Amino acid sequence: MAAVDLKLFIAGEWTEGTGDDAYEIHSPVTGEHIYTVPKASQADIDRAVEAARRATEEMRHWTAFERADLCLRIHRLWQERVEEVARILTLEQGKPYKAEAIDDIAESGDYFYIAAEDVKRLKGELIPTTERHRRMFTIRRPVGVWAAITPWNFPVMIPMEYVGPGLATGNSFIVKPPEFTCWALLEMAKVFEEAGVPPGAINIIPGAGDIGEALVTHAGVDAIGFTGSSETGKKIVSKMGLKRSIMEMSGNGPLIVAGDADVTAAAEAAVYGAYYNAGQVCCATERVIVLEDVHDAFVEATLKAAEAVRLGDPFDEATTMGPLNNEPTAQKMDRHIADAAAKGAKVLMGGKRAEGFPTRLYYEFTVVDQVPEDSLLSREESFGPVVPILVARDDAEAAAIANRSHLGLQAAVFTNDLSKAFWYADHIRAGTVIVNDSTDFWETFQPFGGAAGTETGWGRQRIEEFTDLQTVVFSLREL
Ligand code: ADP
Repeated sequence: MAAVDLKLFIAGEWTEGTGDDAYEIHSPVTGEHIYTVPKASQADIDRAVEAARRATEEMRHWTAFERADLCLRIHRLWQERVEEVARILTLEQGKPYKAEAIDDIAESGDYFYIAAEDVKRLKGELIPTTERHRRMFTIRRPVGVWAAITPWNFPVMIPMEYVGPGLATGNSFIVKPPEFTCWALLEMAKVFEEAGVPPGAINIIPGAGDIGEALVTHAGVDAIGFTGSSETGKKIVSKMGLKRSIMEMSGNGPLIVAGDADVTAAAEAAVYGAYYNAGQVCCATERVIVLEDVHDAFVEATLKAAEAVRLGDPFDEATTMGPLNNEPTAQKMDRHIADAAAKGAKVLMGGKRAEGFPTRLYYEFTVVDQVPEDSLLSREESFGPVVPILVARDDAEAAAIANRSHLGLQAAVFTNDLSKAFWYADHIRAGTVIVNDSTDFWETFQPFGGAAGTETGWGRQRIEEFTDLQTVVFSLREL
């Protein structure tokens, strides 16, 4: 196929921008040059920020019902474009078209539907006063101009996690996706135009870290929404000054298999949590902590469940796992597996790049047993298709291992003992504890928050984060 020339979306217009550079992007699926996208200049960024300011000043005065109607129009138009945009997502990101990309795009539109419901119920309060002639109430106002700096694993969904509730509450956005996964998002921006989003309320400027940094330090940006690695998150926090922020970063999700667990179900969940999106999910199964009594049975069940994983062309309907998205991620897998093996772990399956594919990004589904806690595979987020198995003597040790990670996002526990399930929920430091399902369990409206400073809330709680609480005080005349 011939490569496509993409444009930036600024102030409601499609533009090549005023910069001299462009990014040339190749597909992880085919290796082909699929698109070129201009690199924005500082003047382009300034123009987007000014347009965003005008848009939020306008939408601030809309009623919640008017903004909800806009979100519902977006949601309706979105659904008409799902299959077409899902094809682009597969080509640029690598996730299987039938098994994942279609649902991924469809669910990304649900953020508008949910925000339209939530915003109509976002209430203030009447506050009691000490004097009879005063009345005091609170009302929620939009924060203003947001820069949403988003990653490549869910290139449409994650931006919409910000834009849905943010637009519903009257905020405007400069979305900065990575330059190498921005095509599907730019394609969906046509829906914003059609739905009547005010020009400048949603701008899309793809780019690398330097464009992100220009937004983080921009005086016209009020708030930062960031999803990405903890390393980048730390840099952003050190540069953003007093801007408001929502920071969502790495996870190292443990899945604990207790001594009484349904081992087959646990193995299937561990395998799913490792191959879904080729493991490139912040709540993927990053560590499986198995009680020693059921270790052998679990390993056997995992190897069996892994036989069902179909690595292949993500456009083929039988494929359940496509390539990794990029070379640094593949290199991280290489590094983590080599390090674990050097420290005594046993690679039972996979552990290397697959042969015979158009790019070097197709990775064999991998199972590693006896993973030591001090290995990179255990300590850090691997972000690849791997089930790392650690062994614990008892429940207390399993919980202690789970908690020794500095990344506490989602955890899963397999047990049929109700008391044990509650015990683990009480003792594991994680934003979500899931009993008898994958760490990858996910609902669009679920509160999703991390312990240990990794993530902040989603769901209904999220919509409030896009607002400032304003207090209005009346001093009335005594009659
Ligand atoms: P990942 O490891 O998932 O690629 P990153 O944290 O590197 O995550 O990237 C997430 C987002 O942050 C991307 O849009 C990326 O371009 C952006 N980014 C990277 N470095 C910076 C930076 N120094 N300042 C602002 N944004 C950045």
